[in-house]
Amino acid sequence: MNDAFGRKVDYLRISVTDRCNERCLYCMPEGYKGWERQADHLSAEEIIRVVRVAAGLGFRKFRLTGGEPLVRSDLVEIVRGMKEVSGVETIGLSTNGTRLAAHAKVLRAAGLRTANVSLDALDPEIYRRVTGGNVADVLAGIHAALAAGFERVKLNCVLMRGKNEAEIWPLVLFAAEHGLPLRFIELMPLSRTDVLTAENFLPVGEVMRRLREKDNLIPQPDQRIGHGPAKYYLLERTGALVGFIGALTNLDFCESCNKVRLTADGKIRPCLGNHGEVDMRTLLRAGADDRDLLKLFCEVLANKPEAHVFRENYVPGRPMIAIGG
Ligand code: SAM
Repeated sequence: MNDAFGRKVDYLRISVTDRCNERCLYCMPEGYKGWERQADHLSAEEIIRVVRVAAGLGFRKFRLTGGEPLVRSDLVEIVRGMKEVSGVETIGLSTNGTRLAAHAKVLRAAGLRTANVSLDALDPEIYRRVTGGNVADVLAGIHAALAAGFERVKLNCVLMRGKNEAEIWPLVLFAAEHGLPLRFIELMPLSRTDVLTAENFLPVGEVMRRLREKDNLIPQPDQRIGHGPAKYYLLERTGALVGFIGALTNLDFCESCNKVRLTADGKIRPCLGNHGEVDMRTLLRAGADDRDLLKLFCEVLANKPEAHVFRENYVPGRPMIAIGG
């Protein structure tokens, strides 16, 4: 299914909860109280129904996210149900990894194929300052995912000047050592305004310049690892494959956007960097049939914005934790 700008949109990111067991600076405003009521979260059955409708429309790639998806106790049931839906080609997970060690095997067996694990630092103190969590748990989760036979495990690091910039090179070495693609993500204005200052912003271009002081960056223009917007480079000597997500500084960023989001409370959000959302939960709970849901999806796609407006003094509305990353 193409949108009004000719982009093929076949990727649905589904937030299964707005709850998280970490407190990342860039994702959740301090003292955040905007939690949805549990009853307002879509049930496993409702999520699977939306997936069925989306797959009928041509969506093929699905990713479960949050909040932290692994805090949801019926996640395995959701994966199993999605896997049964005709047209679903891949199901991935975005996770902070802290609970992955306990669940990797059963999720893999249920049909989950890939995992993106947030890893903003390897140093335990820095990791704790950025996320509030314990990096040893994340490392155990990464190893468990590899042992469970996930087809791909990718690492994500959100760049924050003065917070985790000292961790850039250690993360590159870790990625090389374990043969895992690593993505550096520019900070997007999706949390507290005091965190999202110009001072904290570290552009991917600057990180690339720093990496070039240590190694050659060989562009991998044909490398598309997963379905995201990263531009990949191979670091010649270290062997690391590193992707850069320049959401703010790459002016072509939205040209190949292929996704739509479903929030935990049942809103379809066609663009992360535009406030617009369309309510699907009301339809779901009012006894709408699949054709009504399909029609709503089509309307959303027809109105998917051409580009994000992060550069236009965007003021965060719902924070990332509530939208789903
Ligand atoms: N808890 C899971 C995790 O840690 O991956 C899933 C949700 S998290 C919101 C998904 C992704 O969004 C993570 O890679 C996270 O680092 C990224 N993210 C969150 N807030 C962000 C921000 N303000 N700017 C850029 N990336 C952000």
